[in-house]
Amino acid sequence: MAAEGPSSISPPRQRRHMCDNCERPIAVCLCHVIPIPPLTTTNTQLMIIHHPHESNHKLNTARLLTKSLRHVTTHLSRKLLPSHVANQSPSLTTTIYLFPSSPGSPALSLLELKESIDLQGKNRNLLLIVFDATWKHAKEMVKASEGVLEGLGAIRVCLDVNEDLQGGSIYDDELVLRKEPYKGCVSTLEAVARCLKVVEDEGEEIERVLIGVLKEMVRLQAGFLKPVRPRPKLSKKGKQNELQ
Ligand SMILES: [Zn+2]
Repeated sequence: MAAEGPSSISPPRQRRHMCDNCERPIAVCLCHVIPIPPLTTTNTQLMIIHHPHESNHKLNTARLLTKSLRHVTTHLSRKLLPSHVANQSPSLTTTIYLFPSSPGSPALSLLELKESIDLQGKNRNLLLIVFDATWKHAKEMVKASEGVLEGLGAIRVCLDVNEDLQGGSIYDDELVLRKEPYKGCVSTLEAVARCLKVVEDEGEEIERVLIGVLKEMVRLQAGFLKPVRPRPKLSKKGKQNELQ
C-alpha cells in the first residue's frame, strides 16, 4: 500500500516575510492596531473552539483575538470536549456560547443575557465559548458539543440583529471577504467584540479596540482582493451617451 513512500509530504513551503508578532505577512501586519499589552477582561474568560479547517484561513480572526485579549484559550477541535472545560465549575461560572437561535434551541439576546446576569448579581464569572468555523462546520460543532454544553448548563446567546444595518456585519458593509450563507453572519472577532461590549465593565472600549483591529485587517486586505462586483448592465438599445 505504501509502496510509493512518503511522496505526499510536500517540501516546506516558502514562508513569505512574516511578522513574528502578529504572524501575518509583513504587508498586512496588524501590530499597529493590536493592543499592547493585550486587553484584560475582568468578567470573561474566552474559549475558542477552532475548527481544523479554519486554522489556515488567512482571514481567520481567532488569532487576532488571542493576540488582543489576555484571557483566551484556543482548542483546535471539531467539538467541545470535557477536557476543555475540566477546570470549570458550573456553580461558580456562567457558561455561554454564541450561536443563532433555532426552534429547538432558543437563544437569549445579548440584552436578555445582561439582564439575567445583573439579576444574578453575584455571578459575574463568565466563560464565553465561540465556535470558530464556517457556518456549516459550526452547526456540526455545536451539535457534537451538545452533551458537554448541557453538562455546563451553558446558555445559548445570539447577537442582536441591528435592523438598521444592512447585513449586520462589517464584512458586508465594507468588503465581501467570506461567503456565508446568511445575512447578518459576523466574523468571530466581531461576535466576541459585541458580546464583550455587553458583559464587560469596560465593554465599550474593548469593543472599540477589537473592531479597530478588524477594520484595519479588512482595509489592508482590500488592497489585495478585488471585490466581486456585478458587471454593469450593457444596454444594446441604450443611447450611446458619452460619459466624458
Ligand atoms: Zn505584525
